[in-house]
Amino acid sequence: MIRSGLILLYYYIRTLAISRWTDRKKLERWQEKKIMRLLNYVSRKSPYYKKLIDRICPGQWRELPVIDKRVMMEHFSELNTAGIDRQEAFEVAMEAERSRDFSPTLKGITVGLSSGTSGHRGLFLVSRKEQAAWAGTVLAKVLPEPLWRPQRVAFFLRSNSNLYSSVRHGRMKFRFFDLLEPVASHIQELNHYSPTLLVGPPSLLRMLAEAAMRGSLTIRPKKIVSVAEVLDPLDEKIISQGFAKPVHQVYQCTEGFLAATCEHGTLHLNEDIVYFEKEYLDREKGKFVPILTDFSRFSQPLIRYRLNDILTEKKEPCPCGSVFTALEQIEGRCDDLFYLRAESPAESDGLIVVFPDYIRRVVLACPGIEHYAVIQHQVELWEIQLALENTGDSAEEDRSDSPPRSAVESQIRAEIAQLCQQLGGLMPTLQFTEWSLENEQATLSAPPVKRKRVERRFPL
Ligand SMILES: [Zn+2]
Repeated sequence: MIRSGLILLYYYIRTLAISRWTDRKKLERWQEKKIMRLLNYVSRKSPYYKKLIDRICPGQWRELPVIDKRVMMEHFSELNTAGIDRQEAFEVAMEAERSRDFSPTLKGITVGLSSGTSGHRGLFLVSRKEQAAWAGTVLAKVLPEPLWRPQRVAFFLRSNSNLYSSVRHGRMKFRFFDLLEPVASHIQELNHYSPTLLVGPPSLLRMLAEAAMRGSLTIRPKKIVSVAEVLDPLDEKIISQGFAKPVHQVYQCTEGFLAATCEHGTLHLNEDIVYFEKEYLDREKGKFVPILTDFSRFSQPLIRYRLNDILTEKKEPCPCGSVFTALEQIEGRCDDLFYLRAESPAESDGLIVVFPDYIRRVVLACPGIEHYAVIQHQVELWEIQLALENTGDSAEEDRSDSPPRSAVESQIRAEIAQLCQQLGGLMPTLQFTEWSLENEQATLSAPPVKRKRVERRFPL
């Protein structure tokens, strides 16, 4: 335990020290050295990489194959450096999830399962040292005040794991809240606990913000951090109103801790632990898919690992002066890119990509929307679910300040028509329906499985 504490402290201090660097070239040279160290280790311990690394000169590591979750899972047993068998790891992780006892490890390594549909769940391995390093880095980037000041952290997660429960240190209190429990049951507990730092997915944070506005939730956290889902501008606005605070973000997935917001609220890539290559979808607009090389993970190496996410670079530098790449936003999964039938099919393979961000902007250009979701069922069919503010009794519609539903629908229709025209695509059929929590397969008392406001529901 003492050793883990020291590693945590080392990474905490290291992260703060690197955050003060002002020379990007210095960062790049340092990253290259760290990657060499990783490759040296991996070439000795991972049968999968040994063969590949033997064939190249060390400086040519960018010629190693790009892998993804499918390849990672297919070669899991040969790829990891701890000699852990995939089947055995699966059994341990499934049992931990079923019993909600996350203490068992395999060869001293925590095994976890990523969320996803049953056939597509990924396995991840994290050693004790990696957990401590992760915790130190997260604390340095997320805590509103130095580590040695007393803090109370409330962390909402879908399921517990050793990875998270490791964040207990010194004067810091850490409490885990299970997202699967009804939100109402957490309110009293939160009021009593009075967290200084509140961390959870935006769908949950919004419910808490609404409870704060109603007066049932009385907490005054110093910092609010959104994780695990795309932070939609609509939800961001309400969360920051409810708590009278800006909403910070952490971009963390089973693949790693990838980005966090600075004091200006700008997301910066965590280039002090991960090297990012960019596969551009639209270079001019700065939209890219990240390919990660995580030089802080040794038990399950992530080398040139293609993530299924779309990120947008920020055009202007952030006023904080960080050497780390600034992001405009995290847009969502590549699976949620929409497509339009091209007006002139010969020119662009018949289909035109529509980024989730365009769809959000089109819908939110209309005032009076409380909740929305846009679902592409087929190329030609988009469903637009809407819940409007102050609608209440329809007879009272005229008395509210918000525009009537028909006006909102017409405006969205016109905005989408204009977008299609700009992109050179044919206008799809729009089907307007009522948005409700039930549509998200949720009940009024529990948050949705994973909120998505822009979603494509057919494979390409
Ligand atoms: Zn910044």
